[in-house]
Amino acid sequence: MEPLLNLRDLLQHEVEDLYSAEEQIIEALPKMVEKATDKELKKALSDHLAVTRNQKDRLDKIKKLMGTENGAQKGFLARMFGNGTKCKGTEGLITEGEKMMGEKMDTAVMDAAIIASAQKIEHYEISGYGTARAWAAELGMTEVAQLLETTLNEEYGADDSLTALALRKVNLNAGGSKTVGKRNQKDTSGPGNNSQQSRAQQKGSAATKKSSQKAPAKKSSAPKNSATKSSAKKAAVKSAASKKVR
Ligand code: FE
Ligand code: FE
Ligand code: ZN
Repeated sequence: MEPLLNLRDLLQHEVEDLYSAEEQIIEALPKMVEKATDKELKKALSDHLAVTRNQKDRLDKIKKLMGTENGAQKGFLARMFGNGTKCKGTEGLITEGEKMMGEKMDTAVMDAAIIASAQKIEHYEISGYGTARAWAAELGMTEVAQLLETTLNEEYGADDSLTALALRKVNLNAGGSKTVGKRNQKDTSGPGNNSQQSRAQQKGSAATKKSSQKAPAKKSSAPKNSATKSSAKKAAVKSAASKKVR
């Protein structure tokens, strides 16, 4: 890999990483659709496959936009020869999910496991797109930032619908007893789709809306950019970005 000298290079690299992620996800999703039993889950996953193909095309557009800018020689060359970036994060998440799908499981349990794997991937993408969007805004690349944000919102949407599906029926079908189900509905501190429950519960509180997926991000050392998911912060970043941009 060529040395990365500035934020622009870093953005270029992140875009390549996301491109690789989307390519891998396009390959992985059909296997998940096949393994899933619940009709709504199958549909959610195959809908997201179509969305993901479009996201890959959007990244092509982004790469083109970045490549036609002044001083984009490097980007241009990278596009010509390909820079071989492979998203190892996505590769790992997919491998982990496939290993899980290879286990013997009751079909309803499998559905819950598939949602969990899919959401890990969505969260990774949300982090990557959130960061890339912030960098593009910082660099004054308005159109690139907007395109990245469009995808970011689609990833949020996919994540939200998986959460809703898990909480509404898949987790219960997988053996969540009534008691457990009830308890979970009140439990705001948990991993996976459970953490998003707190989002649902906090609806109405603009400050905490959208902040759920990464409950830990708030207090941890997660990349600052990824904190843009809080809708309040998101709006702040957005306006800061647009101020900066134009
Ligand atoms: Fe995606
Ligand atoms: Fe990656
Ligand atoms: Zn996605």
